[in-house]
Amino acid sequence: MKMIKKTIKKIVLNILPLSLFLKTFKNCSNSIVLTFDDGPHPEITPLIINALDEKKVKGVFFFQGNLMEKYPEIVLMAYKSGHQITNHSYSHARKLNFSNFKQEISKTEKIIENICGRSFHLFRPPYGIVSLPLLLYCFSNGLKIVHWSFDSKDSLSAKRTEIADNVRSTVKGGDILLFHNDEKECASVIGEVVQICLDKGYHPVLFS
Ligand SMILES: [Zn+2]
Repeated sequence: MKMIKKTIKKIVLNILPLSLFLKTFKNCSNSIVLTFDDGPHPEITPLIINALDEKKVKGVFFFQGNLMEKYPEIVLMAYKSGHQITNHSYSHARKLNFSNFKQEISKTEKIIENICGRSFHLFRPPYGIVSLPLLLYCFSNGLKIVHWSFDSKDSLSAKRTEIADNVRSTVKGGDILLFHNDEKECASVIGEVVQICLDKGYHPVLFS
């Protein structure tokens, strides 16, 4: 039963239109998107921002509402550098259940609007867990759900060289790359990752 449910979910997610659920960035074969989940982290996030700024490329930050409240200056630093500030729920609960996910999302949208003066209408559920009520809510509120197609595995203790090698051998045009704001390895490798992508002819872009 579990297997059948999983298969149905996979099929449903694959047929969802890109306007609602983004897993790859198919319309641009020479572009990729760099995404950074969780945080903001008071020490690591500024290092990531600086590394991107040094390479003159932009990234997408899926921040948590509760940590944006704690570190609004870091959110503003990222926004002022031209990066996208996006919604990764308020508390990063393991599973956003039916009773709380609306509040988790709308509260975080308001925090982004309060700090940046605008919202990008993009949402990534914690752990990438999507449910039908969540999909319907996002659809009816004009929020696009963003998944990923390349996992750097920085949150699974992948080492700098491993991450760089994986990017070199696996990343292709249209990929959405997943990194994490609270992983030191991410901050230390991101400059190299950007250079590898640029050398392969893939330019990091933002969501429109
Ligand atoms: Zn997360």
